[in-house]
Amino acid sequence: MAHDTPTPTRFEPPVSDDTAPFWEATRDKQLVLQWCTSCQKAIFYPRAACPGCLGDTIEWRPATGFGRVHAVSVQHKPANPFMADKVPYAVALVDLDEGVRLMTNIVGCEPDDVAVDMAVRVTWEPLTDGRHLPLFEPSALAD
Ligand SMILES: [Zn+2]
Repeated sequence: MAHDTPTPTRFEPPVSDDTAPFWEATRDKQLVLQWCTSCQKAIFYPRAACPGCLGDTIEWRPATGFGRVHAVSVQHKPANPFMADKVPYAVALVDLDEGVRLMTNIVGCEPDDVAVDMAVRVTWEPLTDGRHLPLFEPSALAD
């Protein structure tokens, strides 16, 4: 292994044909979602057919990056070795404004301060290959 290869500090999600556009956009810190052009609903996670109507006419659109916490759990034991130095941390289900739910970490505040219905916005953690992992932070934070 080359010595200049950065050591991952996160589990780095694999890329599939269905998820490639999502991950490519994260290189520019852009959150994008699939939309079904038949029923006009956002889709997450990325897949080949709409889970609502089974339509396969799907396009990618930018997401606002804003949402609200649907549920949260504070982890005091790391779920994997990459998270050992991050405990305690907040694992949350976030409902995006577009109507889809994703699992993520809430950062930028104390884990115990994360509450259901808290307004959050996307923030990015770099991965070693140029992609970024979408995390969320309280949207009341100033830039
Ligand atoms: Zn559909």
